[in-house]
Amino acid sequence: MATKKVKEHARKVLKDTFGYDMFRPMQEEIICSLLDGKDAFVLMPTGGGKSLCYQIPSIMRPGTGIVVSPLISLMKDQVDALTRCGVKAEYYNSSLKSAEAKEILAKFEAGELDLLYVAPERLLTKTFLARLEKIEVALFAIDEAHCVSQWGHDFRPEYVRLGELRTVMPDVPMIALTATADEHTREDIAERLALTKAKCFVSSFDRPNIRYLVSEKRQPLTQVLQFLEDWKGASGIIYCLSRKRVEDMAVNLQRHGIRAAAYHAGMPGRTREKVQDDFLRDRINVIVATIAFGMGVDKPNVRFVIHHDLPKSIESYYQETGRAGRDGLESEALLLYGSGDVNLVRRLIENVENLEQRRVEIHKLNSMVALSEALTCRRRVLLGYFSEEREEDCGNCDVCLDPPETYDASDFSQAAVQCVRDAKGDFAIGYIVDILRGSKNARILANKHERLKMHAFNKTINVDEWMAILRQLVHQGYFTQDVSRRGALTISKKGRALLRDNTPVILARYQPGIKRKLKRFSQGRNEALFKKLVEVRDFLAEREEVAPHTLFSDVTLTEMSQINKVTDEALLRLSGMGQHKFDAYAAFFRPVLEQYARDEAAKETGKGQHALKLMAKGSSPTDAQGHTWALYRKGNTLEAIGAALGVSEKTVLNHYIALVRGAYHIDVPSLVEDFETVMEELDDADPYASLSELKKELSIDLSNEMFRLVLAWREAIGVN
Ligand code: ADP
Ligand code: ZN
Repeated sequence: MATKKVKEHARKVLKDTFGYDMFRPMQEEIICSLLDGKDAFVLMPTGGGKSLCYQIPSIMRPGTGIVVSPLISLMKDQVDALTRCGVKAEYYNSSLKSAEAKEILAKFEAGELDLLYVAPERLLTKTFLARLEKIEVALFAIDEAHCVSQWGHDFRPEYVRLGELRTVMPDVPMIALTATADEHTREDIAERLALTKAKCFVSSFDRPNIRYLVSEKRQPLTQVLQFLEDWKGASGIIYCLSRKRVEDMAVNLQRHGIRAAAYHAGMPGRTREKVQDDFLRDRINVIVATIAFGMGVDKPNVRFVIHHDLPKSIESYYQETGRAGRDGLESEALLLYGSGDVNLVRRLIENVENLEQRRVEIHKLNSMVALSEALTCRRRVLLGYFSEEREEDCGNCDVCLDPPETYDASDFSQAAVQCVRDAKGDFAIGYIVDILRGSKNARILANKHERLKMHAFNKTINVDEWMAILRQLVHQGYFTQDVSRRGALTISKKGRALLRDNTPVILARYQPGIKRKLKRFSQGRNEALFKKLVEVRDFLAEREEVAPHTLFSDVTLTEMSQINKVTDEALLRLSGMGQHKFDAYAAFFRPVLEQYARDEAAKETGKGQHALKLMAKGSSPTDAQGHTWALYRKGNTLEAIGAALGVSEKTVLNHYIALVRGAYHIDVPSLVEDFETVMEELDDADPYASLSELKKELSIDLSNEMFRLVLAWREAIGVN
């Protein structure tokens, strides 16, 4: 078992090397388990912090940690980021020139590396395995482990042989990591990597910082542009179903002055690489892509993902939206949902030859449709799909933020159930709606359904509204829908009970149109300063030829923009600022922070002096203030002046404030108890805070008037 001392050491590495104060859920247990020499199987959502789980043990254990990762571009970024934290890391893949490769292997064999990232096909060559025998291996980490499974969505043949590592080096602990939530794939991974005895760490798959939004698709370009208005200059991905739609959308966005580029499998490899690289380095903001784009994208500050078209399954939707907000900052996922797309995807699925597979895909599509049409918390539906039950609504999806209007739909619901019962057969929603609306189309006449009691139950509400009612009845469990029988409805137990006991049915009112009157996020940061800090970061990244986020995340820069007083301690306290980065880069940010503080202070004193001048020029003291001044000059106390003038002490204090502002000398320090402490506290306080904020923040116990007097005095003598 990892001792207390080991845990302390791990925490020290977390802080000193990576600049983080606390472990995220599960990280510490996983790290300790590897330090104990045990295997681990880690299922954590994107952005959960998987990398640290093997990086820290690799640093702490003797020998080198071998990380298998499927994508070359990812390896480079990871190594760039680690090097900047002072960790000795390299990668070994086909992108290296032979001289570079030799040099790296020499370092590796000399035991100089904490971590080596290796492409799977290189790792499993005879010569490389022979090298491994000779050196000490700290651990094997298999990143994106779902690539070993044919069930997963990213199967890679090179991954299959990774299981061999277990026979070659059975004593080296192995950690496999994936964000795949699907049970079937998980089992397959464990088996193929011989991890059946490994401890399994499953964290919640919720991504609380992603806000899920669904809008009915009407004028997609306008809708996208409107959405982008709120995310000017931010990074985002727009997914479209076809190459043609990708290209059209990219051109349209460019026409509107947005730095966007297209990405799809039909483009030459070189162009694709460039687009991806430009995106990672923030040279373009928006990527419009088919699902071909994403796997290699480890960009932490993707602020939004838009689905212009319906994804084929919740798995795809979840994976694609998951590319937003890896850094934990607020992000949005917008789905434009159109019923036309449902039919389009359905037709694509109908081309699938294998009947079983077709059935599975139809089921997956229907679940996606249900999520899009859900009138309850989207996150609950989403997590529920991955068997993660949740008691509470999330408060961060469109349904929670802008709940649909509900109404008593008992009559409609009973009619619908009765109609399905009387129709007796395999009928889907559309047909039942036709009956209820009194259609006399050929099929209805052939079935003699125009004679049903429920025929023409209500013609006044339109087809869409009726459809919405029936879908909700399915969601709420009054009907089940059989995929293999073209969505035929069957009345459930709950549905039969409805006809018996007249329990009221409350449904959400059908609302066509875009619903997007949600309040925008505010990161609570100083945008002007943040922008300047981003410029510094980009300059440094350009100079070192690395992706900006490998230097500092937006989280670090956001926190930096909120520093009150620029000191070494304040900078070292920032999340993501380890000692190594501090030494290398703090000097570049400091002047910007200090200049900003000076500019702001000048603005404030500018205001202060302006006020002083006004007082000195125009507003000489009122008569009452003049009396106060006269009495004060003669050495009268506050109480005495109040008594002499027949006013309260509060009023006298207000006179004092006006006098101080008018540059009359009132000896404020002698009036305030423990004046030194008060001044010290104010020195450390936010100079732009309001009076009430200051009072809340500080432990100073003064009346409002006394407080204002102190502030006026500070201003008059030129402090803050
Ligand atoms: P994953 O591989 O699971 O998608 P990453 O390992 O890339 O996630 O981590 C996501 C982000 O969270 C990174 O920016 C990382 O530096 C940050 N992070 C990881 N662990 C912590 C922690 N304990 N405290 C603060 N930030 C962390
Ligand atoms: Zn919700």
